Amino acid sequence: MQQLIERIKRDGVVKPGGVLKVDSFLNHQIDPKLSYDMAKEIHRLFENEDVNKILTIEASGIGMAVLTGLVFDCPVVFAKKSKTINLSDDVYSTTVYSFTHQVSKQVLVSKRYLNPGDRVLIVDDFLANGAALEGLCDIVEQAGATVVGAAIAIEKAFQPGGAKLRERGLRIESLARIESMGEDSIVFCKE
Ligand code: 5GP
Repeated sequence: MQQLIERIKRDGVVKPGGVLKVDSFLNHQIDPKLSYDMAKEIHRLFENEDVNKILTIEASGIGMAVLTGLVFDCPVVFAKKSKTINLSDDVYSTTVYSFTHQVSKQVLVSKRYLNPGDRVLIVDDFLANGAALEGLCDIVEQAGATVVGAAIAIEKAFQPGGAKLRERGLRIESLARIESMGEDSIVFCKE
C-alpha cells in the first residue's frame, strides 16, 4: 500500500536490533485517516471471506483493528496480556514471546467472545518472527473457529515469521513488506 510505504519512508525510524519505530503514526500516536485507509484496503483484500470477527493482541494492534472492524461492520476482540479481575476464568490462553519486550507472556481471550463457527480475520501492526500471529491462531483453533487470514500493517520480510506461517497455509496480506533495513535506509519488497 503506497500510502503506508511513503509514511514509513517519511516518519519511520530504524532502531538497533531490527526494530522499526512507527510510533508517530501507528502505535503510540495514531493517524486515524491513515488507519482508516489501511482498514479499507484490508476490507478490499478479504471482503469475500465472510469475516464476522476481527482478532488482535493488545496494545499496538488495537487501533487499526478497531477501524478494520468498523469497515467490516463486525466486533473486534483483542487478546489481553494480563489477567484482570474483570476477566472470568473461562478463557482461551496461549503463550507468546514478545519481540519488543523479549519476554514470554500468557495471552488470554474470554470464551464469550470467540465461538465455533466464527470466521476470524487476525489483524496486527507488525509481523516479525510470527510468535504473536501463531499465538492468535492457536486461540482461534481452541475456540473451534476458523482463521480466514491475517492482515498485517508492516511485515519485516527479513525475519522468518511470514515465510513460516505462509508455508503452513495461512493467508497473510501485509500492507508494506520490508526486505531489509539499516540506520539510514529501508528497502521495500517489490511485489
Ligand atoms: P512477532 O511475534 O511476529 O515476532 O512480532 C510481532 C509483534 O512484535 C507485533 O505485535 C509488534 O507489536 C511487535 N514488533 C515486532 N517487530 C516490531 C518492530 O520492528 N517495531 C515495533 N514497533 N513493533 C514490533
